[in-house]
Amino acid sequence: MQIGSIINGIERKEDNRDTMEVLHPYNQETVAQLALAKETDLNDAVDNSFETFHSTMKSMPAHERADILRKAADLLEEQAEDFAQTIVQEAGKPITFSRSEIKRSIQVLRFSSELAKHITGEVIPMDAAIGGENRMGIVKRKPLGVVGAITPFNFPLNLSLHKIAPAIAAGNTIVFKPAEKTPISAYKLVRLFQEAGLPDGVLNLLIGTGKEIGSPLVTHNKVHKITFTGSLPVGRSIQENAGFKKVTLELGSNSPNLIFADADMKAAVKELVKGAFAFSGQVCISAQRIYVQKPIYESFLKEYIKQTEALNTGDPEKEETEIGPMINKEEAERAKLWIDDAAAKGAVVETGGDQNGTILTPTIMTNVDENMKIIAEEVFAPIVSVIPFEKEDEAVAYANNSNYGLQAGVFTKDIDRAMRVADRLETGGVWINEISTYRQDNHPYGGVKQSGIGREGVKYAIEDMTEMKFIGIKLNTGE
Ligand code: NAD
Repeated sequence: MQIGSIINGIERKEDNRDTMEVLHPYNQETVAQLALAKETDLNDAVDNSFETFHSTMKSMPAHERADILRKAADLLEEQAEDFAQTIVQEAGKPITFSRSEIKRSIQVLRFSSELAKHITGEVIPMDAAIGGENRMGIVKRKPLGVVGAITPFNFPLNLSLHKIAPAIAAGNTIVFKPAEKTPISAYKLVRLFQEAGLPDGVLNLLIGTGKEIGSPLVTHNKVHKITFTGSLPVGRSIQENAGFKKVTLELGSNSPNLIFADADMKAAVKELVKGAFAFSGQVCISAQRIYVQKPIYESFLKEYIKQTEALNTGDPEKEETEIGPMINKEEAERAKLWIDDAAAKGAVVETGGDQNGTILTPTIMTNVDENMKIIAEEVFAPIVSVIPFEKEDEAVAYANNSNYGLQAGVFTKDIDRAMRVADRLETGGVWINEISTYRQDNHPYGGVKQSGIGREGVKYAIEDMTEMKFIGIKLNTGE
């Protein structure tokens, strides 16, 4: 399979282009060959999206935008298994997890379709200001124009839809640059939108690397907004280079989970096995630091190790596989080095720690400290640390001792403590009696500190993809 960029509905994959291969992360077979976009393609894509915004999209009625999104959801439901298999092959995500991603993606499309009809403004009480009598103030929400959407490999479909679907709901056009590691589901998605009746030029696809295509997209002066999900270093460079554009950044984290002695420990252990190891920990809200109150620390650790060792590791295409490969060998080797670095500084590998090619066995570490990368930085691998604490204050201080702040989990039966701790945690979201890794697609989602700027979750992304327009009227009093 060879795929190229799609601009104004037409695929570009003539021979004189650089190419790149997408390899199956488990068996290294070639899944697709990419005809990479050039800078001229980027300029064409942005120009075309800019024109399409003015000629078509900004005047498309809300009911049409809602219909297209609903049709896209219906089509994705019909093609769900094909999309799930694509994600297994390009990302190495175990099939059951890939299917869950498709289910969530369908919901994102449905939420967007529903909300496209409810983008409302407000009427301002102008007479609240002295001298404001006999005036009327209206605030409308208008689309921005061209949205540049840059996405990561780990939820290649759902995180792309978290940008594309709200952008369409709000009446924008999009230049979409998916991760070069996982562009096949992106390509199929653009084809699916064509089938759903989205006019050509509303969603232009650029297949290329971050350096060659992502970077000039960020600086292009006809792009009105960049919405990015990915790593902190890239997010930082986007923030520095985007100029006057609006920017949404959904970045990484080293998510904390706090388990108090009164918690339902069994439930916490069971959920945290998933929370730390689902998709080999390559999830931005993966449970990375688990703080357990001393009275239950030993029993928690024992049960956690037992359940982790029972996980099925192997071929992501098999139904029973719970842990598949990491995205590539370099990432697995990098994670293994971080384990070795921590062990050299005194950390204990309680289980796992074995790397073979792209597979890293689920790893639990103890006796860790804040000078180790596995604590201080985002591990983005199947590695979790379990750390004892005595008092609530101590646990909150540990959790907040991070450059990141995306989501946290708190397990306790004491509602007062739960609310107190939730308020004190420096994260964009807190789950009580649920793991940090849980996310729904309809709540505000995003980070504080270096985990990001802005929020997604369809309603909130739509807000960020529109701007306010004030219209004031001076009324004739009739006197
Ligand atoms: P990445 O930052 O390497 O790449 C993300 C995207 O940015 C890719 O499309 C890439 O081509 C592009 N890119 C790279 N350099 C660029 C540049 N200079 N200018 C513009 N674009 C550029 O991230 P990844 O490895 O694909 O994904 C993993 C990261 O994403 C992790 O840090 C993870 O925490 C984060 N993430 C965050 C969320 C969230 O919602 N907060 C969700 C998923 C993943």
